[in-house]
Amino acid sequence: MAGAESVWEKTWRGSGKDKVWIREMNWGKHNVRAEEKNREKVEIIVGRERGLMIYIGCHLSVTNGYEAMGHQMVGFGGNTFAWFTRNPRGGKSKDIEPADVDALSDILSEKRFGKLVAHASYTMNLCSANPETRNNGLDMLKKDIEKMEMLPGHYYNFHPGSHTGQGADAGIEQIAKGLNKALFPEMKTTVLLETMAGKGSEVGKNFEELKKIIDLVEHKEKLGVCFDTCHTWDGGYDIVNDLDGVLEQFDRIIGLDRLRAVHFNDSKNDCGSHKDRHEKLGQGMIGMEAMKRIAQHPAFEGLPFILETPNDDEGYIQEIATVKSWFE
Ligand SMILES: [Zn+2]
Ligand SMILES: [Zn+2]
Repeated sequence: MAGAESVWEKTWRGSGKDKVWIREMNWGKHNVRAEEKNREKVEIIVGRERGLMIYIGCHLSVTNGYEAMGHQMVGFGGNTFAWFTRNPRGGKSKDIEPADVDALSDILSEKRFGKLVAHASYTMNLCSANPETRNNGLDMLKKDIEKMEMLPGHYYNFHPGSHTGQGADAGIEQIAKGLNKALFPEMKTTVLLETMAGKGSEVGKNFEELKKIIDLVEHKEKLGVCFDTCHTWDGGYDIVNDLDGVLEQFDRIIGLDRLRAVHFNDSKNDCGSHKDRHEKLGQGMIGMEAMKRIAQHPAFEGLPFILETPNDDEGYIQEIATVKSWFE
């Protein structure tokens, strides 16, 4: 069963601009203490007290450009979003206009958005048995990172890959090899490995596989993990009855410091089904109570939450409002 509720205790010393926030949390074996002078962080904490402590949004279409996505998410009531860097099923990508990206940056700082979480194409597979597919994947990865660098400091999430019969260990090595060719020390983007449901030959179906990939990558400091609630549940992690236990496993195997974003989805199927069929919040097997506990868990505090639920615009607007209401 879920453990006792854990909350950040907040105190501060100093005043005005010199105010230093001190946050303390007891959670399982963790005693976390954070002192924050950083302007952004202080604003997050102030935001929490006004009931704006979660970064929530959904996938948007990049068709009309970056500024348009910013305006659209403001209209949706959210404060983060995701987009596909290229057609999710195909491979084409749109050129970036510097003025468009600058206009988005203004919206992000003015409206105090959290980190954005771009999503790679589903066709990008760094560990296909087919060398041509692998090379195409690496090419996409490099070009996508290059583009992400025009909007520095955000997240680029990808599905680690499908080993297509080569076995998970071979897949893990090829994924790491691809990352080692694409990541570079000066980059400002953090690349996120998504937790997978374990459908077909997917690599990243458990925390151990993600950890093995990270271990083989030279520039580990550029890597993080995106926790997809539907995928982890389908992958066999009981986030409904034992969220603390799952997060403790994550911490023991990968480390909570790698946890950077959440794909916030209910699931059509049961825990361990390895199906990967997303459902609207509260309408699936995870259920609204568990979704709320996840959103409010201190391990996820301050992370961008991206809805990938089967909704139209109106549905996303409603889900964003629901999630925000948990923090009022
Ligand atoms: Zn995904
Ligand atoms: Zn996802």
